[in-house]
Amino acid sequence: MSSTESREKRLKVDGAVQISELHQTAEYILPDERFTKPVAVIECIESIPCNPCETACPVNAIVIGDDITTLPKIDPTICTGCALCVAACPGLAIYLKQQHWGPSLSYIAFPYEYLPLPQKGAEVTMANRWGEAVCSGTVIKVIKSSRFDRTAIIHASYDSAFYEEVVTMVRL
Ligand code: SF4
Ligand code: SF4
Repeated sequence: MSSTESREKRLKVDGAVQISELHQTAEYILPDERFTKPVAVIECIESIPCNPCETACPVNAIVIGDDITTLPKIDPTICTGCALCVAACPGLAIYLKQQHWGPSLSYIAFPYEYLPLPQKGAEVTMANRWGEAVCSGTVIKVIKSSRFDRTAIIHASYDSAFYEEVVTMVRL
């Protein structure tokens, strides 16, 4: 892991971003009720030299540009929800989200680097940016693919009342 990647990992663990900070960032775009499929949400507000999200996206939905300290900007209208950027981000700062996935349910796909992995159908505890329990959730699928390197992507549904708050699950 490069020093930049290590620094980003520490930022995520030690100084998770506040929702209020995200709302002050023009690049933060949370999909709303118009979106009928999960699309990428980027929570990257540190101007650090990094761009794997941009290079991973096969449809150029994420733009950083020549100055790689520029914050990534996503166009969710062209995002296909492939999750390649979710796995590529060393800061674990990208998720797929859909606000209205089912009756009172939201959908999330998030990177998960711990073992054991949850099983499809498992009831889990969804968590916020500090790993604190928020609500219950149900695992829809767990994807481990060579395209995602060693990062598992957990897909889950949860109470849409906590749409923005939830970003991961409590470790098993
Ligand atoms: S989910 Fe796929 S299509 Fe959407 S921004 Fe990420 S890499 Fe691009
Ligand atoms: S979203 Fe992830 S990959 Fe993209 S610039 Fe931020 S930390 Fe780097």
